[in-house]
Amino acid sequence: MSFPYEAPVSQSLFDRASAVTPGGVNSPVRAFRAVGGTPRFMVSGAGPYLTDADGREYVDLVCSWGPMILGHSHPEVIAAVQEAVARGTSFGTPGAGEVELAEEIVARIEPVEQVRLVSSGTEATMSAIRLARGFTGRPKVIKFAGCYHGHVDALLAAAGSGVATFGLPDTPGVTGAQAGDTIVLPYNDLEAVRAAFAAHPGEIACVITEASPGNMGVVPPLPGFNQGLKDLCAADGALYISDEVMTGFRVSKAGWYGIDGVRPDLMTFGKVMGGGFPAAAFGGRADVMAHLAPAGPVYQAGTLSGNPVATAAGVAQLRLLDDAAYEKVDAVSAEVRGLVTAALAKEGVAHRVQAAGNMFTVFFTDAEVTDYDGAKAQEAFRFTAFFHSMLAQGVYLPPSAFESWFVSTAHDTAAVERIAAALPAAARAAAGATA
Ligand code: PLP
Repeated sequence: MSFPYEAPVSQSLFDRASAVTPGGVNSPVRAFRAVGGTPRFMVSGAGPYLTDADGREYVDLVCSWGPMILGHSHPEVIAAVQEAVARGTSFGTPGAGEVELAEEIVARIEPVEQVRLVSSGTEATMSAIRLARGFTGRPKVIKFAGCYHGHVDALLAAAGSGVATFGLPDTPGVTGAQAGDTIVLPYNDLEAVRAAFAAHPGEIACVITEASPGNMGVVPPLPGFNQGLKDLCAADGALYISDEVMTGFRVSKAGWYGIDGVRPDLMTFGKVMGGGFPAAAFGGRADVMAHLAPAGPVYQAGTLSGNPVATAAGVAQLRLLDDAAYEKVDAVSAEVRGLVTAALAKEGVAHRVQAAGNMFTVFFTDAEVTDYDGAKAQEAFRFTAFFHSMLAQGVYLPPSAFESWFVSTAHDTAAVERIAAALPAAARAAAGATA
């Protein structure tokens, strides 16, 4: 397709980046491979807006893939970071900030009795799985097709996010031994889980699931699915791991746990809890966490874990996330969803807006999407046309039909009006798109 306008400075940065970095990006989902065109190189963010290297401003509906729930450059988060950075950037010793962040997490999420801080969601899920295997003495892990848990070797099979966007079946470089203990099942299919437990009695260490998936687009668990997973795990002696890297502290004060109340044995967090810095965590039952080094034998470590600047940002952001903040984000999300659906319906475009709390995805299909196959069955080519029209009009969407859209407390009336103004042309572009 042809692209509505050029971005010469971003293009020249992308050319330089492509010479020194594979594909020109440091995380595949940032590239525009799925939609075509030049990825926008952003230079600053303020509230609901991003400004690119060509000086164009966008309403941001990606919010750094979730973390920026207070919008960009929130003054209190920036002040906390500046105050922390002035005291030094890394000590390699314990520090007060990491205690405060751990206490914030434990206070908000009742099943988390103890927590270990790490630097990325990938590290959190990787470590949680190691701990589950160490605790149970069992090898196998159940995961679901379309769920993404970071680029952990054992969890890349049939993963969502960039793996879904680029249609990668599996990843070269992951050996049979690394993936051989991973059982991949269709999402929302409890019978398949029951059958897997029956086929591998006493062998399954854990079931890991996104608390409410956002990496094949937003596909919430059907009623009873998460509880069913928890019950099957409990009956077999396996651990139920709820991956809340995306939903944690975003969809409610206590994340998806605050919505469905199903009590995991272990949970993983990232994104919002770092306030825009690399901070993530895994935690849960104290008797399980007691198996982690140095308290127990399961090794896990990190030079920058609990980094003082990252923890200062995370604590500042979490403390600002009170009930009123979530009400605001939920309300903006509902408003934008309503606007998108009205615009697409007006043009007769088959679509379905699916939400999990304030996270949402617009699927270009009229069937309810309950699993990865359903997500892949959408008319993604319509999203491509929709995306580029929105981009040209100053609205930045995730450059993939298989991702969640995110809003923030900073998305005010002016930002929503800009989105509303862009939607009619984008809906027309989607209606006129061809495969
Ligand atoms: N788990 C989930 C549910 C995620 O959405 C992600 C990232 O998008 C991860 C894990 C991996 O986190 P990170 O990108 O910080 O490694």
